[in-house]
Amino acid sequence: MNTEANQDWVARSLAAVWHPCTQMKHHERLPLIPVARGKGAWLYDHDGRRYLDGISSWWVNLFGHANPAINAALKDQLDTLEHAMLAGCTHEPAVLLAERLSALTQQTLGHAFFASDGASAVEIALKMSFHYWRNRGQAQKREFVCLANSYHGETIGALGVTDVALFKDAYDALIRHAHVVTSPDSRKGDDAARAALADMRSLFEARAQHLAAVIVEPLVQCAAGMAMHDASYLKGLRALCDEFGVHLIADEIAVGCGRTGTFFACEQASVWPDFLCLSKGISGGYLPLSIVLTRDEIYAAFYDDDLTRGFLHSHSYTGNPLACRAALATLDLFDSADVLDENRRKSSLMSAALKPLGDHPNVRNLRSRGTIFAFDAVIEDATQARTFSRRFFENALKQELLLRPIGKTVYLMPPYILDDEELMLLAERTRTTFEATLAEAA
Ligand SMILES: *Cc1c(COP(=O)(O)O)cnc(C)c1O
Repeated sequence: MNTEANQDWVARSLAAVWHPCTQMKHHERLPLIPVARGKGAWLYDHDGRRYLDGISSWWVNLFGHANPAINAALKDQLDTLEHAMLAGCTHEPAVLLAERLSALTQQTLGHAFFASDGASAVEIALKMSFHYWRNRGQAQKREFVCLANSYHGETIGALGVTDVALFKDAYDALIRHAHVVTSPDSRKGDDAARAALADMRSLFEARAQHLAAVIVEPLVQCAAGMAMHDASYLKGLRALCDEFGVHLIADEIAVGCGRTGTFFACEQASVWPDFLCLSKGISGGYLPLSIVLTRDEIYAAFYDDDLTRGFLHSHSYTGNPLACRAALATLDLFDSADVLDENRRKSSLMSAALKPLGDHPNVRNLRSRGTIFAFDAVIEDATQARTFSRRFFENALKQELLLRPIGKTVYLMPPYILDDEELMLLAERTRTTFEATLAEAA
């Protein structure tokens, strides 16, 4: 990372760009990667040095950087229609995408509302749920429920249903808090899902008349550090929501689009939510796009002569044709090959390659779901533990890997297009990076 071009972009970025999710002072020592271009699973700096994108550029990329099929679709769309407002107008990419997503739910979620980022999709689902109950004459149902360690985005409304102290505590005074209920995190033992459902039932019994919706990250609470749970939890939660008349919001922003092995994570529990939020992978990692899918019965509660009973939420770029076209090209890629089958094969291969780590004395809870792989590092020294993530990131760069552990949880969430050789390289060098990071503590 030492050529002039590299250094120049880093210096100018640190002078002008306020980077997300970053204590900027750490960059006095921590490297910043000046990405010049991407191809497939690899990112390249200005010096031609390469990094395997082991975390899909923050969980968004599915079919690689500069994917030829998505590029071609976008170039065509660019010459056809770059953008038109979606209030009072409509266009082919938005209609086709809404129809295709609905079909993927066997028409259960028959309407799609478009926004641009995940946090907005979450807030739209919360607003729609509350407004639904209000239109149905139950305006007292205005409280929300989330799980311990949940992550649903960082706008002020989304922070209300997020339970990550690091992102939330500074803004506590601004936030309208949701009820926080036990997480079914299976690291807590075989009984975790049942215990979490029992806790949810207690809250419902006490509070259901005031509850609008429960929001969950189905199967994997990613930002919590890839906390995984059993599909039986979702089945149980759906039943509870039906019994007590509370909406279920599935935040599939990270886990949707095949990430957990099925296109929607909810499919593994054979349930559909009342609202399903999608973003991240849906545009193939190309453009900001988010979508809230919902049932026709909910849509019908807003359909009225009265303007104010409608859902008046808007975003300037809602349903952007380029973003929708990228999403359509992404869905085409799912259709053109047995992506989910092939991912299952790759997932077994990867799990086998990572398996020796399971016996490492400094590793706990080696786990996987679909194309998400994770383990928790055991580090006794408090200072070493606190700096583990940053040091691992730096050591990974030396191995040509882009990886960013969450605290002491190392995870891999690679794009789907890695070939077997790249998968082995990722597994092996993750182990090397881990050993190097541990050795620094010795
Ligand atoms: C990333 C994420 C969000 C927020 O999406 P943004 O586009 O970053 O606002 C919400 N929920 C989950 C589960 C996520 O992983």
